[in-house]
Amino acid sequence: MNRGTLYIISAPSGTGKGTIVSEILKADPNIKFSVSATTRAPREGETDGVNYYFISRERFKDLISSGGMLEYAEFCGNFYGTPKQAVFDRLDAGNDVILEIETVGAMKVKAAYPESVSIFILPPSVSELRRRLKKRATDSDEVIENRVAEAAREIEKSADYDFVVVNDDLDRAIQDVKTVMKAAKNLTKLNKDTIEGVLNKC
Ligand code: 5GP
Repeated sequence: MNRGTLYIISAPSGTGKGTIVSEILKADPNIKFSVSATTRAPREGETDGVNYYFISRERFKDLISSGGMLEYAEFCGNFYGTPKQAVFDRLDAGNDVILEIETVGAMKVKAAYPESVSIFILPPSVSELRRRLKKRATDSDEVIENRVAEAAREIEKSADYDFVVVNDDLDRAIQDVKTVMKAAKNLTKLNKDTIEGVLNKC
């Protein structure tokens, strides 16, 4: 059985990444979402074990020291991390896995697992991002300005990703991410065995 592909998807908050990822998961049951652990409190509508594993700082530190995290990072005062075992079990079972993580963690995964495929979703502009965050009205003005500043820092890192997709039109952005994910299956770095196999058939 072929090993699954590990996709890393990053985007500043307010870029629509949640919607894009859920549409991708709906369209292909072979693609699994990696549920992260976090020390932040659940938001309204979020379920433990579905959106995140909501855990204490102590438990988070235990997971790091026992080697249970593929990566982790601090973001806006909270810790976020990817439980390692679940990701590799799924890849070994032939499933593709999506990590929806921020840029520091993304670069750690890229270094530790070079076969991963990284995609950054860009907002059309920073001012449009601010407008979307205000429209969502879940955060105070101060929190929104912090998120916008964090977004600008993250967007600077997008050049280190394999692919970028601009979300100026949601349907097109979903289609573009699907296209990129499919095309990534043909990347040379993911087809070394295929090339070997062809050579060995002469
Ligand atoms: P939020 O609190 O809005 O759900 O997420 C804040 C940021 O943390 C987002 O950029 C999200 O992609 C990122 N994030 C979620 N899970 C993980 C994780 O396991 N590791 C890292 N490094 N970032 C994560």
